[in-house]
Amino acid sequence: MSYVDRMCLRMMVFSLVPLALGGLVAWLLAALLDLPSRLGGQTLFPDLPLQVAMAGAGVSLALSLYQALRLWRWRQGKGASCYVCGCLLGRERDGRYGPYRKCLGCPTNHAVSKGLV
Ligand SMILES: [Zn+2]
Repeated sequence: MSYVDRMCLRMMVFSLVPLALGGLVAWLLAALLDLPSRLGGQTLFPDLPLQVAMAGAGVSLALSLYQALRLWRWRQGKGASCYVCGCLLGRERDGRYGPYRKCLGCPTNHAVSKGLV
């Protein structure tokens, strides 16, 4: 697996989390809301599980489009990239030696220079 493959995998895996969570919550809601009908009553909010699953899918699609936009900008040469492997850098974090950004491809940390004050 190359560094670019690892970068793409890291960026896209997180966009699938809302889809999985939406499916799990929808499945639990369907089981809970179906309980009164199994006891002889009527089903409460029959469309709610589908709406929750569709909301998770929508959020997942939006995150995927955002990550695809980031990859497209990276292909255009825009955005901060790693000087070791050329992959995109992650978000800025606070570390022991000051703020840094982690490469999404290789395990390199890059210091963020704020300039001299
Ligand atoms: Zn790198």
